[in-house]
Amino acid sequence: MDGLMQPRPLTIAHILERAERLHAHKAVVTAGGERVTYADVALRTRRLATALDALGVPAGARVATFASNTRRHLELYLAVPVSKRVLHSINIRLPADHLEYIVNHAEDDVLFVDRALLPRIWPSADRMPKVRHWVVLPDDSGEEIPADPRVLHYDELVDAAEPYEGSFEETFTYEEENLASGLCYTSGTTGAPKGVLYSHRSTILHCLGTLAAGFIGLRESDVVMPIVPMFHANAWGLPYGAMMTGASIVLPGPSSEPEHLLTLMATERVTVAGAVPTVWTSLVPGLESHDLSATRFLLGGGSAIAPALSETYREAIGIPITHSWGMTEISPVGTIGGTRSRHRDLPDPERVAVRAAQGQPLPLVDIRVADVETGTVLPRDGRSVGELQVAGPWVAGGYFLVEAGDSFTADGWLRTGDLATIDGEGYLRLVDRMKDLIKSGGEWISSVELEAAIVSHPDVVEVAVIGRPDPKWEERPVAYVVLRDGATATQEELLRHITPLVARWWLPDEVVFAESLPKTGTGKLSKSTLRAALRTA
Ligand code: ADP
Repeated sequence: MDGLMQPRPLTIAHILERAERLHAHKAVVTAGGERVTYADVALRTRRLATALDALGVPAGARVATFASNTRRHLELYLAVPVSKRVLHSINIRLPADHLEYIVNHAEDDVLFVDRALLPRIWPSADRMPKVRHWVVLPDDSGEEIPADPRVLHYDELVDAAEPYEGSFEETFTYEEENLASGLCYTSGTTGAPKGVLYSHRSTILHCLGTLAAGFIGLRESDVVMPIVPMFHANAWGLPYGAMMTGASIVLPGPSSEPEHLLTLMATERVTVAGAVPTVWTSLVPGLESHDLSATRFLLGGGSAIAPALSETYREAIGIPITHSWGMTEISPVGTIGGTRSRHRDLPDPERVAVRAAQGQPLPLVDIRVADVETGTVLPRDGRSVGELQVAGPWVAGGYFLVEAGDSFTADGWLRTGDLATIDGEGYLRLVDRMKDLIKSGGEWISSVELEAAIVSHPDVVEVAVIGRPDPKWEERPVAYVVLRDGATATQEELLRHITPLVARWWLPDEVVFAESLPKTGTGKLSKSTLRAALRTA
């Protein structure tokens, strides 16, 4: 017997219309001083939806964005899916061949691009023949706008369009909650990039899951700053989550300069911000000189947050960085770290260790670890290391227009490529990415653990450990280290520091000191770049 509840669809249109009805006066601030309200954003969203109709963009068509975090990008986040098109947010740091591959693979119909970013993508325009319109989002970059019939101007387009007057939500049937709403490609570090196709339903459930108290838990009084780019896995759900709750939104624009980000956090009294560890590292020197007293929650993910980094924040501003583990395939948030009530009376060092874990899965998300060779599910005992697998209503079940290959188990769980343990209370601890583990003498060394040990030395700002091919041991660890300005630590000093922290045979064969370390398109440390450099050295 079915229940007798109303078959209302879960759609992003609800986020827009709820924000309009309940929080019209709330602020959306973009770096550079632009300050508008949710009502302004909603009205322009309604105009943009009509403008897409006028351009003849069909339902289900992919509408690409190549843009930094701005108010106009937020309008696209809303207008594209609520009008039943699919938002394809593109990583602005991809090389030209990847860009061309994914724009052609997605068959993007229209591409919205920041004026400042035209030089990165316009040279590829003729190799993206399916893109009918290039719409330039204005900024003060002064970049030349091509005189080409395909090129349109965002503000002219939106200003000239009549706002859609009705309810977008009411245009959706119950069955249509499964319509595609967004498309993100994985970074393609192994093989061609693969498209993850989100639905309205998955997006709303992810949004509610992250909003639960004890997880990201945004609230109306928050001022939320997604430092994580809007092209990086939906900015971890922060824009939709903020609008769902009515929190104010601060968008940092194109600059990721530490001084810019810290000043914005201080002047806008930001309460919640999210970023990858390399960004949190870059802000450390300025923590004491900015008033971050409004901050109540800092979210870190994308790579492991070393306990030393989180502790630096706790000492400087009173709050640690809360770990979140996720993937583009998981919309992206899968787990949230931090301590729970059972940890309250633990001594400090143990609480630090708990905070270093990736934490418990969000409601509706299931995680398990399985033996890498046999696929047998392993016990949740906090010790058994296996491949992490995930299931849930906002976890991908396939990839856009490509075979899934071995990405899923026979019973449909996503294989993450991460190695982890899970304890009896569902606490996830990532050991390493399978491809980053270092195989030495038939045993494995976790690059993540070695890095956490090295970065706990006060002179070290950033570190990446990779395996160097070795005739005797197969691989041996090499650490690439960036020291604080003026610091003088030597290889011997760093090895002495980590000797009590790791097994003796884990000690890196060499410490290479560098000015900076290579980063991926989403700002993570790029071990594949370091490995490639080692191979060609
Ligand atoms: P990519 O980094 O491959 O471009 P994603 O952003 O989807 O793509 O990254 C997902 C991967 O990032 C995970 O499989 C995991 O290896 C790593 N990751 C994400 N969050 C964390 C975290 N909190 N701690 C450690 N690793 C993480």
